[in-house]
Amino acid sequence: MPDLIKVAKFGGTSVADAEAMKRCASIIEVDRDKRVIVVSATSGTTNLLSSLSETEDPSERLAVYRQIEQKHLEILNNLNSPKETGNNLQIVLNELREKITTSEPYDIRAMDELLSFGERLSSTLFTGLLNDKGIDAEFIDARDIIKTDSEFGHAEPLVDLIRKKVTDQLVPKLKTKRVVTQGFIGSDKNGTTTTLGRGGSDYSAALLAEALDADVLEIWTDVNAIYSTDPRICPEAIPITEMTFDEAAELSFFGAKVLHPATLKPAIRKNIKVYVGSSIHPNQPGTWIVKNITQKPIIRAISLRPEQTLITVHSLDMLHRHGFLAKLFQILADFNISVDLVTTSEVSVSLTIDTNQKGMHKRLSPEMLLELEKIAHVKVERELALIALVGNNLDSTAGVSGPLFNLLDSINIRMICHGASSHNLCFLVNESEATGVVRKLHEHFISKKVS
Ligand code: ASP
Ligand code: MG
Repeated sequence: MPDLIKVAKFGGTSVADAEAMKRCASIIEVDRDKRVIVVSATSGTTNLLSSLSETEDPSERLAVYRQIEQKHLEILNNLNSPKETGNNLQIVLNELREKITTSEPYDIRAMDELLSFGERLSSTLFTGLLNDKGIDAEFIDARDIIKTDSEFGHAEPLVDLIRKKVTDQLVPKLKTKRVVTQGFIGSDKNGTTTTLGRGGSDYSAALLAEALDADVLEIWTDVNAIYSTDPRICPEAIPITEMTFDEAAELSFFGAKVLHPATLKPAIRKNIKVYVGSSIHPNQPGTWIVKNITQKPIIRAISLRPEQTLITVHSLDMLHRHGFLAKLFQILADFNISVDLVTTSEVSVSLTIDTNQKGMHKRLSPEMLLELEKIAHVKVERELALIALVGNNLDSTAGVSGPLFNLLDSINIRMICHGASSHNLCFLVNESEATGVVRKLHEHFISKKVS
């Protein structure tokens, strides 16, 4: 066995076509410690599969299938793959085709089964490529090891069971070979296919790293590193070479799209270092995420999440009474609404809802608002953006709020949350002003400090 165990995950854009796959294979070839390889579906494929739920028309479904088929056959051809890989790919394609030829609506369970084909196709091609390159790699279907509950669409992993499966089925193979498996997919106790939620491949890789007691979890993607803010809105954004688990977790909660928000949980539990790097420019420095580092700036990064909704409920019933907040949150829970930020005063409560999240707009229904109106006066404000300053000791450091309020002198801040976490300070502004605010804050709190 090699000294270190690294779990390396390659995202959808990293395996988007034959050239991209070859780059990933080279990254694996030069490092024998990359023992477990986790792949996403080729970029765009999960979206295509997901669109199958929108139609019951057999010819439209077949058209989606054809696109997926063509895309993967093209990769197969461009890779000059051996016949065996072609046969393996065809088996998976045939199975998908069979699932497509029904005009019944797909329920959420059927959708998980369909979505799994993205990863099953890409992993078949990728295992073939590695073997063709002379890299001894064996394929394991993730559904045999990533065991989950039966919450289709966003299943919860069963960590103890995963560990057992990994110990029994994966570890023995690692003595002589590398192992390729899929991200995103798993199965429940009955063996029915589940998924961990969109973007869940990072999380799969982290769960495997945890079960293996791996030394490093690598996330190979299409950006060089995690940046101090989104470089598309702020050209001064700088790549972060090293940050802590807490900072990175906070950033992923607040909308930095680089990591799936649950990814760091297993890494934190086992103190596994995480590396985020670009499969296009593997030699450029990426970001290390570790438990502790000496250099901990007060503000490491700034994130922006658009399409937030603020609900303010106001009721004199709250005055010196108990139970009002419980009632309020019960209504939200009944409608499956998860709340992000909350601030309260004696007679009113403001809360934010991430309406950027799929399905959230629907849940914020007139019925739900009617229920709220039964207990309080309700105001709903939309088109807001949540800006989060992410860093360290924000709850115990003087001198942040002064400059912040000065810089935002002319901006209408709709809500502020400060103090609940030492790693963030966040607030809401109008969406139209948000990018300007981020640039201003970045200049003051980050660019100035490093120059
Ligand atoms: N293929 C899945 C998705 O697109 C999972 C992933 O790529 O992480 O959501
Ligand atoms: Mg992804």
